[in-house]
Amino acid sequence: MIRKIWLIPVLVAGLVWLSAFRGGNEEKEVKKKVFTVVLDAGHGGHDPGKVANGVNEKDIALDIVLRIGKELEKYDDIKVVYTRKTDKFVNLYVRGKIANEANADLFVSVHCNAHHSNASGSETYVLGLHANRQNFEVAKAENEVIYLEENHEANYAGYDINSPESVIGLTIMQEEFLGQSIQLAKKLQDNFSVKLKRKNRGVKQAGFIVLHQTFMPSVLIETGFITNKTEKSYLASTKGKSEVAANIAGAIIEYKKELTSNIAVDDLPLIPDPDTGVVPASGVVFKVQVAAGANRIEPKRYNFRGLDPISLEQAGSVYRYFYGNTTNYEEARKLQREAKEKGYKEAYIVAYRNGERISVDEARKGR
Ligand SMILES: [Zn+2]
Repeated sequence: MIRKIWLIPVLVAGLVWLSAFRGGNEEKEVKKKVFTVVLDAGHGGHDPGKVANGVNEKDIALDIVLRIGKELEKYDDIKVVYTRKTDKFVNLYVRGKIANEANADLFVSVHCNAHHSNASGSETYVLGLHANRQNFEVAKAENEVIYLEENHEANYAGYDINSPESVIGLTIMQEEFLGQSIQLAKKLQDNFSVKLKRKNRGVKQAGFIVLHQTFMPSVLIETGFITNKTEKSYLASTKGKSEVAANIAGAIIEYKKELTSNIAVDDLPLIPDPDTGVVPASGVVFKVQVAAGANRIEPKRYNFRGLDPISLEQAGSVYRYFYGNTTNYEEARKLQREAKEKGYKEAYIVAYRNGERISVDEARKGR
């Protein structure tokens, strides 16, 4: 009798523990798969952005952003976070904070351009040095909003929007995301020019404060010039806004696909290791695989969160990226820990003998 009474709570506790454990696992699974996109409609509230031909930049930007969001929200594995969904003023640094706190995978800021000439077309910016005067002027116009913010002296630590030099300090934070930011920017521009047949002004770099605030791949899109009457009519129309939004959403989805195609590539045929830098006596080398995907990315440290050296291997249509190169398994484990600390949570050790991929166990035994 006593035993039975004892048994019930133990069983119940066991079941609770089991379900909690399973629940936890599933939650972890879901978390891993969800891709968070922060959509940032430029300006808002008492900052109209550019004003021309009877339209405000802030209104067009918000309308487009809400349409992009609607498209993306159709996907279960995409989470959309907005910096604003209404006509309100949001400080530039707060926009970055929203993205960082959401632990976002991507930050997309939407704007409209203006110029005293009859300029037209769309361009996408990633953070960098102002390559020329024109890029500087575009960034300057977008950065000017900080003077509408209270406490801007404190929040932007003496950043002088009139000085091209002051942007140099801004670029460092985004360096590690530059490769991915450019990857998305190219897709956006391709969609604008190929699918929408709009003038392609290209992928550019300049010092946008809003892009500096984020710790993830980030782009700023100048969808078009509201100072150009034809382009303004297009951007102000429902057709124009929904087409632009659909193409931005399409580029984001494409980008995500490429990034997440880095799973289940192990059964692909291997080609010999192109990295012949180190040939150990036993012929065995360990590396740490940090990423793989359909896109070829330059194996440079700035594309891999500062990890160096990165080597590249093509297997079928998939590119694999490895960190380090060592004959010592303990050293490889150290490299793996480093990669994980840099955010490559799934980083794992791979082994080669004379350029042929072998199992890690085999490599360790053979030594
Ligand atoms: Zn703007």
